[in-house]
Amino acid sequence: MTIQINALPEAERGRCPETYSFGTGFADHMFTQVYDEGRGWHDAQICPFGNFSLHPAAAVLHYSQEIFEGLKAYRRKDGGINLFRPEANAARFNRSAQRMVMPEVDAGFHVEALKQLVALDQAWVPGDAGASLYIRPAMIATTPKLGLGAAASYLHFVITGPAGPYYPQGFNPVSVYVSDEMRRAVKGGVGEAKTGGNYAASLYVSEEVARKGYTQVLWLDAIEGRYVEEVGAMNICFVYDGSLIRTPALSGSILPGITRDSLLKLAPTLGYEVEEARLDINEVMADIASGRITEVFGCGTAAVVSPVGLMAMKGRDYEINGGQTGPVARRLFDELMAIQYGDAEDPFGWVT
Ligand code: PMP
Repeated sequence: MTIQINALPEAERGRCPETYSFGTGFADHMFTQVYDEGRGWHDAQICPFGNFSLHPAAAVLHYSQEIFEGLKAYRRKDGGINLFRPEANAARFNRSAQRMVMPEVDAGFHVEALKQLVALDQAWVPGDAGASLYIRPAMIATTPKLGLGAAASYLHFVITGPAGPYYPQGFNPVSVYVSDEMRRAVKGGVGEAKTGGNYAASLYVSEEVARKGYTQVLWLDAIEGRYVEEVGAMNICFVYDGSLIRTPALSGSILPGITRDSLLKLAPTLGYEVEEARLDINEVMADIASGRITEVFGCGTAAVVSPVGLMAMKGRDYEINGGQTGPVARRLFDELMAIQYGDAEDPFGWVT
């Protein structure tokens, strides 16, 4: 299958503006392909960025049969552009598709589409330190039908837009509130899939936590309300005694983050021990209080590493590392960014 290129004339193309904010500005082109039962995927194209026309009964608008992804293109110092683990990202896209009864895409073709799209819009990849071009692949169910059931037609598309450095004012720790009653995902549900409904469902709690004066919500498991799962839209890690990094084992309701997986592989090469375990929130809070936990941080594509300076549970605040960013978070942030931007060796073959 080939990708039809319908590019804007050079004179009509834009470039990354001087100032931009994440998620609101978009590059000149997008990738689309459509799926119909019987025909499979067809009409792959890269075309000028623009609106879609959807039937008001399109299944995605009513029953949220939708998946998405997020990854970044990084500007190297030599002017070239890196993608970070796009195959792992495509594999997760297909796992989400399976869970939402949507057709899988050819992972190699999907990655090829990303490469061609980013190459065409390379003027949109920012060159500022810590900035990137955010890539948002997605798939929606387009069949016009209100009867509940998997759709027969789908649209797979990829849009991109510049994303500034996550920490323009320095590496600032966030505060986290442990959600008492609300849950993000349940084992057997769709928490492992990157589907819009998970994020819509989280908004209420995020607003509530923000009203209380905290930055992010820490999610516990939905069955016992006792085991740590994720923080905001990131995975979470706890550093014990400055040397052991523990993160919740994938439970069926945790999104398997690519940053999480990368840190679990990178950290041992830097001399840290890593462990995936079931982490009881009561033990975690006691370990923070006793000082055994020396650092806490979230990890994900957006921030890479997001240090947590304060955790609150049941109305009590627990400070971590004096509210400051710790050395382990700092080191992992620097080392992983150096691989992503091509400033360091890539022993894992993560960069394309
Ligand atoms: N958990 C959730 C719920 C997320 O949305 C994300 C972001 N994709 C992550 C964790 C981190 O995943 P990744 O490292 O692949 O960005």
